[in-house]
Amino acid sequence: MYDIAIVGGGCIGALTARELARYRLKTVVLEAASDVAAGASRANSGIVHAGFDAAEGSLKAKFNVLGNAMMETVCKELGVEYKNNASLVLAFDEEQENTLRELVERGKKNGVKGLEILNKEEVLRREPNVSKEVFAALYAPTGGIVCPFTLTIAAMGNAMDNGAELFTDFEVVAAEEQGDSVRLSAADGRSVNAKYVINCAGAGSQKVAELFGKANFTVHARKGEYILLDSSTAGYVKSTIFTVPTKAGKGVLVTPTTDGNTLIGPTSVEEETFDTSIRREGFDDILGKAKKMCDRLPLGETITSFAGVRAYSDRHDFVLEEGGERLFNAAGIESPGLTSSPAIGKYIAEKIADKFHAEKNSDFNPNRKSYAFFKKLSVEEKNKIIAENPEFGQIVCRCESVTLGEIREALTRNPRARTIDGIKLRTRAGMGRCQSGFCQPAQLELLMKEYGLRFDEVTKNGKKSFIIVGGEI
Ligand SMILES: Cc1cc2nc3c(=O)[nH]c(=O)nc-3n(C[C@H](O)[C@H](O)[C@H](O)COP(=O)(O)OP(=O)(O)OC[C@H]3O[C@@H](n4cnc5c(N)ncnc54)[C@H](O)[C@@H]3O)c2cc1C
Repeated sequence: MYDIAIVGGGCIGALTARELARYRLKTVVLEAASDVAAGASRANSGIVHAGFDAAEGSLKAKFNVLGNAMMETVCKELGVEYKNNASLVLAFDEEQENTLRELVERGKKNGVKGLEILNKEEVLRREPNVSKEVFAALYAPTGGIVCPFTLTIAAMGNAMDNGAELFTDFEVVAAEEQGDSVRLSAADGRSVNAKYVINCAGAGSQKVAELFGKANFTVHARKGEYILLDSSTAGYVKSTIFTVPTKAGKGVLVTPTTDGNTLIGPTSVEEETFDTSIRREGFDDILGKAKKMCDRLPLGETITSFAGVRAYSDRHDFVLEEGGERLFNAAGIESPGLTSSPAIGKYIAEKIADKFHAEKNSDFNPNRKSYAFFKKLSVEEKNKIIAENPEFGQIVCRCESVTLGEIREALTRNPRARTIDGIKLRTRAGMGRCQSGFCQPAQLELLMKEYGLRFDEVTKNGKKSFIIVGGEI
């Protein structure tokens, strides 16, 4: 019997599991996919928003500002890359500049520090690749960037190193009250019992809430498509560059990622389902906007495109409240959910610790070593690590210089990579120019050996996403 079952291993579930590990509570995370960070936490802009965008008094505004203030420390503890690169919202005429002034006022009310309006010359001095047509910009010094899936994986790993358990491929399809606990069942017949359930199921959060009775919120899908440029474009822009926000969202951005790529997007398209396919019209939309924001966009360096889907609630705010005697809903966590995740995790964990009169876990270790990231080491550090373990001297992914040593770490550390994408998200193998054309066979073989699989049992990202199908070898 578990004290707490968290449904969903996105950034909200993972950061909540980590915060709960600070207490003497037996926690399990149940994730429908074959890995954590499978939903919105995998495919988003990775921006640590300053907090001037959300409406005053909303949960979004509150947790954005709190999460922004926590992010640097959390990332340091978890060995995750974070950069305080600041953000700029561009205005191209006086009317848009008025919108910037409204954002400054809203930001001040939300508690955002250091907001300033810059004139054209100041903007171009900071960011020479911004369009010369720019009129003014809102400068937010507390804006930052983080790798969203690395944060989720590291938070889950840290929670597991401190005692939490993770079951993947466990889609919760039924919840049955049994005395002082709830029995949560997966479609394949597995089940767990827990005294209390935290619903962090993102796109599935309405369905999970409905397993406990009628939900008092609905969840809807809004897709965002992106174009990703190679890390050879590092430095093209230093800050995150936004257009002025509209009702549909924070607008299109051009931003560096923590790995030195340049990211352009997202679109904002209402959808019936949470499907992540990308559309030609999506590219036309974001490229049209990005070309007005920036000059000399290095689009020849495009390496891939992808989409993420926002799961927003009909309240247009986060749902963070009890949904019954044994249920807490953390639902409809759209942007700025990534930024807010450390603060939301802390808030939920404190509430639950209080409810269960849980003792502090004096053995809790907040720190987690990052993967070795060979590419980023100095020559001396490279020589040292190879001398200690020759597997770091064997390059598997040539584009991103990922070594066998790093892939071994991904296969063996909590939460262990079980798929090709699992290795990619932990090590960047396959994320470079050739998009795994070269290194995928080697990764496939390593997964076969690690898990005793046949070649046609290895998947890209679980379920039936087999890499090799048909025929015998
Ligand atoms: C296009 C886009 C851009 C964004 N940009 C930003 C940004 O720059 N900054 C920012 O702060 N935020 C951003 N966000 C928002 C941020 O990504 C989300 O708020 C955050 O990832 C939500 O995390 P989550 O854990 O609630 O959901 P998810 O990451 O979706 O995780 C939910 C998990 O629950 C699992 N699940 C679902 N149903 C079940 C079930 N029945 N049983 C078990 N598991 C289940 C899913 O498989 C999934 O892994 C963006 C979002 C999108 C889509």
